[in-house]
Amino acid sequence: MPPGTVRLGVDLGGTWLRAAAVSAEGQILSHDRRPTPDRSAEDVVAAIVDGVTAVQARIAALPADSRPTLSVDAPLVIAAPGPLDVPGGRILATPNLPHLRGFPLAAAVATALGRFVHLQNDATMGALGEATFGAGRTFDVVLFLTVSTGIGGGLVIDGRPFTGATGQACELGHLIVDGRRDAPRCGAGHAGCLEAHASGSAIGRAAAAAGMVGGAAAVAAAARAGDPVATAVLRDAARWLGLGIASATSAFDPDIIVLGGGVMGAWDVLCDGVLAGVEEAAMSDGWRRGGVVVGTLGDEAGVVGAAVWAAAGRR
Ligand SMILES: [Zn+2]
Repeated sequence: MPPGTVRLGVDLGGTWLRAAAVSAEGQILSHDRRPTPDRSAEDVVAAIVDGVTAVQARIAALPADSRPTLSVDAPLVIAAPGPLDVPGGRILATPNLPHLRGFPLAAAVATALGRFVHLQNDATMGALGEATFGAGRTFDVVLFLTVSTGIGGGLVIDGRPFTGATGQACELGHLIVDGRRDAPRCGAGHAGCLEAHASGSAIGRAAAAAGMVGGAAAVAAAARAGDPVATAVLRDAARWLGLGIASATSAFDPDIIVLGGGVMGAWDVLCDGVLAGVEEAAMSDGWRRGGVVVGTLGDEAGVVGAAVWAAAGRR
């Protein structure tokens, strides 16, 4: 089958910078991954340009009969961790990217590449990727949570992401699930938000307080081996996550809840607790149609979603 037009997406994470060319069917035809530079904003701009250039070069090197058309008029969409100034194309206060704080990233990359560049929330783009080509593709209302160092969220309704008045909707990690004044705090300083209780950082912190060493993956491995402390830490995190999902479900009545992020590597030991938490607190029932599942796009959800957004030509 002759390939059609492909779009580029970029996902700027705290650790990895990904660029990809994605077909209209959601297939990644060219991919580049490199460490995110951690010193200067200029280095990040150069790395994005290099990554995009490498992806384009791989497409250009394909044999003519299997070479898709690279859309040059579509915007280049960069998915980045929030909070963002979406209209201004700036990253505002992401803890993992302090050298980009307030930097006009979209404008700088646009100047370097000579094309329109649009910055979007990475969890929103992950939601769009999963809703279009991943676990949520057969559902109309897809709620997405990504659980890694922090917790992000996104909502896609009939193929369109809900971004709110200023592009900052669905910061589900900052739903307050614990009203105690002395509740644990997230990196943004909220007491008792979901991120403070169920993120990878929160799991690592709870494990350390119980005398364990290591992050969520190590805690999960210990739990699988029957360690009671690790099991208790994950049971707590799972319940908080379930309660957070239940709260979001009561607000949005999704058909399906799709989970992503590195902590989902521990889904086998988290899922019973998460589902029990959702059952305990959800008001609406629509989520039972698709259930609570781990996404199928893994680490590529954001870059695929960015390409989908680019294909829509939306700003
Ligand atoms: Zn918070």
